[in-house]
Amino acid sequence: MKTKFLFYQLLDYESNTYTYLLADGEKGEAVLIDPVKEQVDRDLKLIEELGLKLKYALDTHVHADHITAAGTLRERTQCKTAVGEGANVECADHTIRENDSFCFGDFTLKAISTPGHTDTCMSFYLPAGAHNPSMVFTGDCLLIRGCGRTDFQQGSAEKMYYSIKEKLYRLSDETLVYPGHDYQGRTHSTIYEEKRFNPRIHEKTTLGEFQEIMASLKLAPPKKIQIALPANLVCGSTAHVALA
Ligand code: FE
Repeated sequence: MKTKFLFYQLLDYESNTYTYLLADGEKGEAVLIDPVKEQVDRDLKLIEELGLKLKYALDTHVHADHITAAGTLRERTQCKTAVGEGANVECADHTIRENDSFCFGDFTLKAISTPGHTDTCMSFYLPAGAHNPSMVFTGDCLLIRGCGRTDFQQGSAEKMYYSIKEKLYRLSDETLVYPGHDYQGRTHSTIYEEKRFNPRIHEKTTLGEFQEIMASLKLAPPKKIQIALPANLVCGSTAHVALA
């Protein structure tokens, strides 16, 4: 028997990055969100075992903490790669804009522009259907009881505030939130929970309060930023590292 809706939350231990595999098991089409280069064999093995064809490798943004597997997946599966418009990733097959749709079988992911962590961050929304709950994949915008940093890569606390309050928090309360990372082992949340309990940005937080919280964080740069950023601008190729 083939399951109609397939969903896997995969973890890269080193960077604490979540990669999501979504698929229509009957029609055999799959999408990966935020694949990690070091995990490409794991992900392709699973896709093959499930009898799926990878249609898209989507990045929520140009990552600073890990290298995307998008380019490698394209080479190995002929999938299409996509990242937000304006991210300067010229090798991507698609640049994603607000409301763009990514279909896999009978399911459709919709892009929501959620800048703030970077200027071109995207979230992906899967509306509820007969086989699946309402789900949103928020990358490094809304995290569980937190949010992504806004202190580099054209980050903006003001933009993030509006992305979360005016867009993500307007999704229905029962929508499941799947973030790009969690550093405490949590897997998902809901819009309702975050609106109530997110200590950085709940439904009553003002823009001024949020900006103050974000300005006070004083975070160290990600360990891999010097390698990851240039690689991700060329779809995850590390060829230039060998030349350096
Ligand atoms: Fe990030």
